[in-house]
Amino acid sequence: MTYLKQSDSFNSQDSSNSQDSINLQDNLKRQDSPNLQVNPAKKIRLYDLSSDELVDFAVSIGEKPYRGHQLASWLFRKGADDLEQMTDISRKVRSKISETATSQSLLKPISVDLSPDGSIRILWELSDDEKVESVVLPERDHLTLCLSTQVGCRMGCRFCRTGTLGLTRNLSPGEILGQIVEAKKIITHPLPLTNLVFMGMGEPLENAENTLKSIAVITDPALMAFSMRRISVSTVGVIPELKRLSSSGGISVGLTISLGSATDEIRSSIMPVNKAWPIAELKQVLLNFPLQRGRRLTFAYVLLKDVNDSPQQAQALSRFLGGLKAKVNLIPFNPWPQAPFQSPSQDAVDAFKKVLTDKHHTVIVRRSKGQSIGAACGQLAAEITKKDSD
Ligand code: SF4
Repeated sequence: MTYLKQSDSFNSQDSSNSQDSINLQDNLKRQDSPNLQVNPAKKIRLYDLSSDELVDFAVSIGEKPYRGHQLASWLFRKGADDLEQMTDISRKVRSKISETATSQSLLKPISVDLSPDGSIRILWELSDDEKVESVVLPERDHLTLCLSTQVGCRMGCRFCRTGTLGLTRNLSPGEILGQIVEAKKIITHPLPLTNLVFMGMGEPLENAENTLKSIAVITDPALMAFSMRRISVSTVGVIPELKRLSSSGGISVGLTISLGSATDEIRSSIMPVNKAWPIAELKQVLLNFPLQRGRRLTFAYVLLKDVNDSPQQAQALSRFLGGLKAKVNLIPFNPWPQAPFQSPSQDAVDAFKKVLTDKHHTVIVRRSKGQSIGAACGQLAAEITKKDSD
């Protein structure tokens, strides 16, 4: 395990996140926010290219298509961040590539924190000095890496610390993939890294194009070769993107819906997204969402003391689940300084779970790891926030 000393100071970020000022409908009409890719040298960032795009790039500089496959293998399988490492590509060709492109990693680790429960939080600095975080979570027989897809987030879920940052920008495909490539270089752990969850900073479906582009590389058997069954994308329910995915056949990896409540009144009060797309609309889209054989939707439900942890709320959740192939992850809230909510009591968690299991729903209570280092569910951005207020 390597510890990297945090050295650079953080740029202040836009922390304005007035939930009332969020107009999700208007913002979503803008569709994809541009990837603000900082590239002073104007070179092509090879880590941002898909396998096919690397082939196109090779052809564009007068090389055979197989050079593109060689590049993809060096970048995504071997984690090369210097063309000089690519020893099966001649010096002459490497020099030609370097005239127009760079294989540099798009992010570097600036701090690594280890929690007593074994989870590891990595703070990354991007090429424009922005910061994002990933978390490595040890399970019984494997590691899970929790990935970020945006710098900050504009969805403003009130139980989530990232939501207090507001959105700065989307991550590029190479910045998403780089979290895996670079984490593998940092973490020396006896357990294999086999599972990925897109549950870090950001709403993945607000950056759907880059998220899906990175998943294609992650699941390519010739490249990162992660099993689709061991990957999950989490969303608050961005309806236009869910509909778009639905009409194109669904998603190859697992889908987790962050629900928060199954009643409009409570959900709207803790998740502004519900004002744009209420519960009934979300349910309708999910009823029609194509699932691969044997797959179920996962619903993540953060339990907040005296807000959404009552038996009545559990009954509402049970009704919502009717007709859906689903399982439920109950996540007792992880408080952070100045958080507006408290953790539920164990009795409340047990009673909530019992209402669901009595109705034959599959329910797991998930205690988030990484609480002591601000890396638990909903706590990411702790270090960014801390530095900003210094
Ligand atoms: S829970 Fe997810 S979507 Fe909601 S504010 Fe946090 S990062 Fe954004």
